[in-house]
Amino acid sequence: MDGPVTATVAFIGLGNMGLGMAANLAARGFAVQAFDLAEAALQRAEAAGCRPMAGAAEALAGAQAAITMLPAGAQVAAVWRETLFERAAPATLLIDCSTIDVETARALGAEAAARGFDAVDAPVSGGVAAAAAGTLTFMVGGPEQAFLRARPILSAMGKAVIHAGGSGAGQAAKTANNMLLAASMVATAEAFLLAQKLGLDPQRFYEIASVSSGQCWSMTSYCPLPGVGPESPADRGYAPGFAAALMLKDLRLAMDAARSVGARTPMGARAAELYEAFAADPDRARLDFSAIIRAIDEAA
Ligand code: NAD
Repeated sequence: MDGPVTATVAFIGLGNMGLGMAANLAARGFAVQAFDLAEAALQRAEAAGCRPMAGAAEALAGAQAAITMLPAGAQVAAVWRETLFERAAPATLLIDCSTIDVETARALGAEAAARGFDAVDAPVSGGVAAAAAGTLTFMVGGPEQAFLRARPILSAMGKAVIHAGGSGAGQAAKTANNMLLAASMVATAEAFLLAQKLGLDPQRFYEIASVSSGQCWSMTSYCPLPGVGPESPADRGYAPGFAAALMLKDLRLAMDAARSVGARTPMGARAAELYEAFAADPDRARLDFSAIIRAIDEAA
């Protein structure tokens, strides 16, 4: 059973993801006190039913929970250490939904616990469309009690809320998942190009591989070839979706995490190299990550 639904939530970071998430909370009856450094983001949040606030500290007033959805670990650490730990009421539940490094997530979890806060890292799978539709998957790290408090709030923004383990475990799950996604996308692109060069029709190869042992999400939900399989960013000129620059960010986090624990990740490392080269061109960095198929095709 989920605990009582939290009434007032402070939401900090209303960008591509945060805006849709905050809007879903508001639509499901939460009072959302929203803050973003960008005025335009605040205005969009207001139009989506949130209450715009003058600062992160102001957003905390009377809130039972605070959510951060920020670009990276540096911003999350700054907001948590400078504002949440200092200005949140002691019973406030702290939730970070950003994608950040495991080390910072663990450190913030420990610091929150030392101050008596319930806190979780709760990164998401699913892009801007899933954030807007309220169909994200949340991978949650933190103590059981904090998870149970966070679940009804996260459920209002997603289709699945899974307790991954202790503090930082949500980020660990996210980093391993996205490394797998990158490697499988590269492999899917390679397989289609090979089949094509061997004379196969791509749609016919899709029909075979999608019911054979090579089947994977990168193929059957997100095929990198236009006109093959269900509609995907490839059919829209590789408009994201999930931008190559964001995939590169996640791969760098995965490589750092692997180094920190001495894990060997030969496929992940190769995928990271390929995305480093691809996203070095700013025009390509903005494309969906499935556009990596173009670089692989050129390399031949
Ligand atoms: P974004 O850049 O669109 O939004 C970040 C927002 O944070 C911006 O509006 C910015 O003004 C605001 N911000 C930065 N510092 C702030 C501060 N100190 N106080 C208040 N606001 C501040 O990023 P996004 O695409 O919404 O992604 C957010 C997080 O979600 C990232 O960690 C990203 O890796 C992760 N994520 C993104 C996607 C995606 O498809 N976009 C998918 C899964 C996870």
